[in-house]
Amino acid sequence: MMPVEEAMARLLALAPELSTEEVPLQQAAGRWLAEPVTAGRDQPPFDASAMDGYAVAAAPAPGDRFRIIGEAGAGHAFTGPIGQGQAVRIFTGAPVPDGAKHVVIQENTRAEGDHITITDRDSGANIRPRGQDFRIGAQVAPRLLKPVDLALIAAMNVPKVTLRRRPVLAVISTGDELVMPGEAPRPDQIIASNSFAIKALAEEEGAIARFLPIARDREADLRAVFEMARDADVIVTSGGASVGDHDLVAPVAQSLGLTAGFWKIALRPGKPLMAGRLFDAAFLGLPGNPVSALLCAELFLRPLLRHMQGDPAPQPRQRLARLAQALPANGPRAHYMRARVGDDGTITPFDRQDSALISVLSAANALLIRPVGDHARQSGDLVHYIPI
Ligand code: AMP
Ligand code: MG
Repeated sequence: MMPVEEAMARLLALAPELSTEEVPLQQAAGRWLAEPVTAGRDQPPFDASAMDGYAVAAAPAPGDRFRIIGEAGAGHAFTGPIGQGQAVRIFTGAPVPDGAKHVVIQENTRAEGDHITITDRDSGANIRPRGQDFRIGAQVAPRLLKPVDLALIAAMNVPKVTLRRRPVLAVISTGDELVMPGEAPRPDQIIASNSFAIKALAEEEGAIARFLPIARDREADLRAVFEMARDADVIVTSGGASVGDHDLVAPVAQSLGLTAGFWKIALRPGKPLMAGRLFDAAFLGLPGNPVSALLCAELFLRPLLRHMQGDPAPQPRQRLARLAQALPANGPRAHYMRARVGDDGTITPFDRQDSALISVLSAANALLIRPVGDHARQSGDLVHYIPI
């Protein structure tokens, strides 16, 4: 069986980076910048006052007296020069007048008519030099745009950015037993729940995700639903991926031209994971058991979507924690155990690890990784985990 790491690498190789599009900056939050942005100006664009006070030629001493010759506010420059014994009333964000090298903070002065007297020393010059934040020509490299990045790009006077296109994801649930939430299930039916988490996870990663109709366990039905996914960049199924008589995803996907794939990996839960290219899309066939499906979505779908949008390191970040209890040796598949990392930083796997327990996965905040063939572990041993 294929190791998890190899399956991840093979999956990413199946999907090229998406094309790009130009987008107004106010619509770019949470998306992947595809081309560097270049500053069109210095920030600040002039030496700016950092305080409310008085601009003077040089740092004064207590007792010095100055005559006020004008005023500079934010957006209102004072244009004349400043000479010896002269001061300009100045406010935060205003350009420092020519010839001024110091702003006396207002708290260190006493005003009398059109004069001020210095009462205390300032701790600094209170001037933000031109370009101290960034210089014209500075660049923002391709990355996932955080809110502050939009402020940075806006300050660079750049109104539009080139982003990776959002991946379009088609989500297909398979199974005769499934009905949508809110419908009236027969006694032998259950609710199709996997697709909700898959869609939400994909949307967290910037995808445009849509549900296709539930495919029943008949070849013609599954084929018809697959056909509705022809325009997708990623097709995800859940269920029908094992080798039972009613597991039709592999034969139907193959009959539609599935190529370059792999099927079955050394992962617990999630062994029947299937991947390849179908139509013009990356295809990911998730297991049906909810925890298997969602764990595979976390480990494979999330990195796939990040990779397609330009993330050079899309794999989940592993962290280290100390075990709060001993664990027996692991078997021939990597075991990703549902676990909680507590406030004390230790990690505890849940007692119940059945791959059908949605409530346990919901209560987990970590996947504790047991490598293939890992030996027994003691309480206090360091183990790897992925925060979820
Ligand atoms: P399968 O891989 O189709 O044999 O499904 C394995 C288990 O997962 C069965 O108990 C299915 O009923 C269940 N299952 C399959 N698809 C879903 C789904 N979309 N939501 C919740 N459970 C599912
Ligand atoms: Mg099924």
